[in-house]
Amino acid sequence: MDAQEKPSEDPADYLIVALDFPSAAQALALVDKLHGRCRWFKVGLQLYLAEGASIISTLRERGFSVFLDLKLHDIPNTVAGAVRSLASSGASLLTIHGLGGAAMLSAAQEAALGPGAPRLLAVTVLTSMDQNELTGIGIQDSPVNEVLKLARLAHAAGVPGMICSPEEVALLRAQLGNKPILVVPGIRPVGGNSMPDDQRRVATPAAALAAGASMLVVGRPITEAIDPQKAFNTILEEIAGVLTQASLKGR
Ligand code: C5P
Repeated sequence: MDAQEKPSEDPADYLIVALDFPSAAQALALVDKLHGRCRWFKVGLQLYLAEGASIISTLRERGFSVFLDLKLHDIPNTVAGAVRSLASSGASLLTIHGLGGAAMLSAAQEAALGPGAPRLLAVTVLTSMDQNELTGIGIQDSPVNEVLKLARLAHAAGVPGMICSPEEVALLRAQLGNKPILVVPGIRPVGGNSMPDDQRRVATPAAALAAGASMLVVGRPITEAIDPQKAFNTILEEIAGVLTQASLKGR
């Protein structure tokens, strides 16, 4: 992925499919359905804890890029050690938690400078959290202010990317400039499955991308679709429509 330094014209470079499955067999069944067009898969806690590092190697051997979403959050020394342990995992992107604070973010980033290490993305406020949820954990600030605060902290620590919801991406782009890799989950395509789920701060693929997202993360709208390939292709077409607009130039 060097879409961010040199904007890619291939919509597949902007779309990461979240493999939130309990086993490699189920994840790879979905991978097979998207074969030929999909470039990026996200491996999260459920799949990584079930299968370990082998799932990353398997995806790499099949030619995919991997975003490892483990949201590391611990004391600086421990997170730095975890980042070093994952340096040769084959993952291209790895999440750490912004709430770990400045010292943790800096230690993690220093550990990620070695050869082959994944680029770090700092999680800000989970896209499943709204104002009520934040208040419940003692944070009085609005989600957008909290996201901005954590993104600035990560940026100052040299972390190259952040995770935010579609609702904050325009502000982060305006405040932090074109360089940060802004990866955006909470994507809900128009006309997709309208079943309510745990995501709260959401937008369509086109809206998130036009607002400044570098890459989109989409899970259930694809993985739980009756026809995952069709759902994937529809999102890809929507991305292609946005890529023709001048707003993406220079990102
Ligand atoms: O199924 P859905 O499209 O909601 O999946 C979104 C994915 O993005 C999930 O794997 C979730 O863990 C991840 N994610 C998120 N919000 C964050 C960070 C990661 O939804 N802030």
